[in-house]
Order: sequence, then structure tokens, then C-alpha cells
Amino acid sequence: MRYFSTLRARFAPHYCIYIGFFLSALITWPILARLEAFEWFHDYSRAHEDWDLDEFAMLIINLTFALLFSVIYQSRRLKRLWRERDALRAQAEISARYDPLTGVFNRRAFKEVLGEAIQRQAADGDSADGARFLALLDLDRFKPVNELHGHSVGDATLVAVKERLVREIGAAGVVARLGSDEFVMLFDASSDARKVERATQRLVYDLAQPIQIGEVMVHVGVSAGLVQIQSNDDVTEVLRRADKALFQARSQGRGLYAWYDETQDQQSRNRTQITADLREAIANGDIKPWYQPIVCSNKNKVRGLEVLARWQHPVRGFVSPDVFVELAEDCGLIGAMGQSILRRACLDARDWDESLTLSFNVSGLQFNDPNLIPSIQEILVETGFPAARLILEVTERSVIDDFEEAGRKIGELKDIGVSIALDDFGTGHSSLACLQRLPFDGLKIDRSFVTDISEQTQNQSIVAGIVTLARGLALEVTAEGIETAEDLAFVRELACEKAQGFLFAKAVPAEQVTALLQSDWAAFGQDAETAQGV
Ligand code: C2E
Ligand code: CA
Ligand code: CA
Repeated sequence: MRYFSTLRARFAPHYCIYIGFFLSALITWPILARLEAFEWFHDYSRAHEDWDLDEFAMLIINLTFALLFSVIYQSRRLKRLWRERDALRAQAEISARYDPLTGVFNRRAFKEVLGEAIQRQAADGDSADGARFLALLDLDRFKPVNELHGHSVGDATLVAVKERLVREIGAAGVVARLGSDEFVMLFDASSDARKVERATQRLVYDLAQPIQIGEVMVHVGVSAGLVQIQSNDDVTEVLRRADKALFQARSQGRGLYAWYDETQDQQSRNRTQITADLREAIANGDIKPWYQPIVCSNKNKVRGLEVLARWQHPVRGFVSPDVFVELAEDCGLIGAMGQSILRRACLDARDWDESLTLSFNVSGLQFNDPNLIPSIQEILVETGFPAARLILEVTERSVIDDFEEAGRKIGELKDIGVSIALDDFGTGHSSLACLQRLPFDGLKIDRSFVTDISEQTQNQSIVAGIVTLARGLALEVTAEGIETAEDLAFVRELACEKAQGFLFAKAVPAEQVTALLQSDWAAFGQDAETAQGV
């Protein structure tokens, strides 16, 4: 290849011109000599002296030389221009492939290098010594370096980091700069997972030490994501996995490294997918309120219904509210979701007996949202549902961060006529402090203390204690998780006012509530098999 390009350069057009002249002179000279053309011309010009043929011939000869010189000059100029063009091309090639600051490959060139490495690995098979590893590195605290010491120190830091990476990986590996403070290292084929991990540990340790840049000491650090390349991977996939690993390392803290973990990646993909689905479901009103009865424990009469959100995912089936409530909190949709459920529940509950209460769960983020009270007020006005029938259930987690603020909020809610119950009582660490500091109207004993209570003597003492405590504080108590006639008998004996659980009914959709309310409630407690609904 190189030989051909040298040949091409040799036989470039300006050389051809010289050679052309030389050859034509070489060929025409003997012909002219043979034909005795010069003698003939001499005689002819003598014979026609008045034509000045000799001057004319001189003119032709001079013109030929002038043409020759001009051709030589132009061809030299052309050659210089070509040389300049080649230099510019080489320069463009360099800046298209190399990072101008650090001199290592840039993202584009690295992708090509990685692509070739994957192809080679595929050709060699995924044998242990053929597999390659990649480390994606991101500097910690680099932005403050630029801000504090200026861009020249920032640039020098990046160069120093690159030098450290190049030293670590050696001549057979590849270092590239993918973005501002993001580097990548492709280890040579002889590196195994242990070597890669040790090299990364060394880098993480070394780069956590201060770097001297001129007069300044710079403190950065590095986090790394490690990935093993498979021969059937493509470049984008390898970099995506490395990015995931880096993200994982960073989520555990700075100055750490992590290997790509497929299970976690799958989980986070699922989460991303389900979050997108949830967003759509909330917008389409597919999260629906279902209702579980809360029963007066000694008379088996329905006192109210707890709203339990239900989401039937088109592919996954019913998704637990424990899962989607948290997701809705994470993606900032809990407010919208809660409002939509409450609005529908208030509309449904308007048609039921007006003695029935409606209990509505409020998550931690919802409770602390400044828009909570105005939005509840708005829904109550809009639907005409009486505030006195609405009970908000909050958990200890919603209130422990700031008792004062929580107390103020509970006070305001009570001012608009809504009642507040402390849900899941007994599961937190400061349940008693919550009761002491905040003006709740009721509490719900967590089902972990109630289900199978007849066989758990410890739980019997706990529940008995809670009921006594609540009575002392004039709070209405609900026992959750009543699954059997024995559970009901036990809480009844403790004079716990309200009971809720699968023994009576699981949550049902709005259309089934009327039928549910018409059930023979007096029969409950005799037969544990009557549980119905979802
Ligand atoms: P929670 O407020 O403690 O609701 C009671 C949970 O216990 C419900 O689970 C209910 O189906 C279940 N349960 C009721 N009786 C029994 C029983 O006898 N045995 C057993 N094993 N379980 C029983 P679900 O519907 O899965 O709700 C779970 C949690 O999700 C709720 O716990 C609540 O914290 C939250 N949640 C449900 N709906 C909403 C909502 O609309 N908004 C908010 N913020 N959270 C909600
Ligand atoms: Ca609840
Ligand atoms: Ca509960």
C-alpha cells in the first residue's frame, strides 16, 4: 500500500510533464537529425532570407523555453499546494480522532477502536485470554476545580489524570477522553478481571490524593464502572453497561468502583418501564379506588371504607400499591395520583349511607406537600362530600421529621373538619412520641400484631396495651388484619372499637360496594371462610 502511494507521488503530473518533455526531445531529436531537418531549414531560410525565418525560429525556441519554465514553475507551485493540502488533511484527521487537550483518542475514535476490539474478540472466541475489559472513569469534584482555580488549572488536572491513566494501562491498552472529565480505559487482551480490578483500585486510591498543579494543590477523585466485553456486544451496549456500573458506583458514594450488574440493570430497566407505564396510567385515570370495609367490632356493622388504590397493569396484572405509591413519589406524581383517587372516591362515597366514613391514605410526600390542604378542600367542595366523613390515614414516617410542622398541619386539617388517624401503629420507633405530640383522632394497630393474635401471647399483651393507651388518649382504635373468627373474637374482647381485615372483605371495586354493604354482617365472626373480593 505504502509502496503504491510512493509510486503515485513519484508519478504525479508535474513529474509527467518533465518526463514528457525529456521523452519528446529524446524522440524528436534523432528523427530531426536523421531527416537532416536542421540542414534543410538552414538552406531554406538562406533561400528565403527576406522571410526572417531564423528570427522566427529564435522566437519559437524562446517561447518553448518560456513555456518550459512556466510549466516547471506552475508544477512546483502545484506541488507545494498539494503538500499544504496533505498537511491540512492530516491535521483534520488528528483533530477528528484525538482530544486536543490530552492528546488521547476522543469519543469517536474510541468507539472505532472498541468496535475493532469487539470484532477481534469475536474472531478469537470468548476464550478467557481473549475477553477484554473496559473501565469508564468520571472525575469527582472536577467542577469546583474549574470554578475555584480557573480553566488552565482544570486543563492541567485533566492532563495529569490522563498521564496517570496511560501509565497504569501500559502501551497495549487504550485510554480515551469521552467528555469533559470522563475517561475510558480499554485493557489489553491479557488482562483478567483481577488485574483490571487491582488497576482500578490503584487509580481510585492515587487520584484521591492531591495533585500538584503549579502552585495549587487540586483535590479531585475518581469513580469507575467496570465491564467485561462480550463478543456479541456492540459498542453502544458496552458503553451503556459501563455507564450503568459507573452510576452504581456513584450511587454508593464517591471514589468507588463497581462492576456492571445485570440483575440490577434489569431491575432498573423494569423500574424505568413501569414508571413510564404508571405515568400513563395516572394520566388515563387507570389507578382506581377500591374499598375495604371497616367494621364496628362488637356489632359487626360497617362503619366506613378504606380507599385502597388499585392498578391493573395490562401486562403485569395487579401491581401492589406498596410498589406504585413509592414510584409515584419518586417521579413526582404522587400529588396528581392522590388527588385523582380522592376525587373519585368522594364521588363514589356520596351515594353510600351518610353514616359511612371514607378513610384515605396519605403518603409521606403527600402529607408534606404544601398543596395538600388546598387540594383536599377543593375536592370536597367540588364533589360535595362532607369533610366530617373523611379520615386521613398518615404513618409515623410522615410526621417524625418535624413534629411542629406536622402538628400545625394536622390542626389545619381538623379545622376544615377532616379527622386524622395514625396508621400502621406499632411498626415505627417513635409511635408513642407521635401520639404524645400530635392531636390524632384515631390509630390503627398494624396488622402484624393482629393477624393470628390468638396464638401470639406477646402480641396479645402489645395490643391490649395499645388499646388501653388509646382509650386514655380518647382515640378510636382500629385493628387491621383480622383474618379469622379467632382474631375478631380476641380484639372484641379487648373492646377495640373497629376491625378491618380479610375476614370481612378484601378491597372491592366501587361497583361491588353496594352489594358488599348489604351482606349479612351479623354473621361475621362465626365463619372465617366468608372472605371475598381481591
Ligand atoms: P395500609 O394503609 O396499611 O392498607 C392496608 C393494607 O393491608 C392493604 O394492602 C390491605 O389490602 C391489606 N389488608 C387488609 N386487611 C388485611 C388482612 O386481613 N390480612 C392481610 N394480610 N392484609 C390485609 P394494600 O391494598 O396492598 O395496600 C398497601 C399499602 O399501600 C397500604 O397500607 C397503604 O399504605 C398504601 N396505599 C394503598 N392505597 C393507597 C393510596 O391511595 N394512597 C397512598 N398514599 N397509599 C396507599
Ligand atoms: Ca391505611
Ligand atoms: Ca395500615
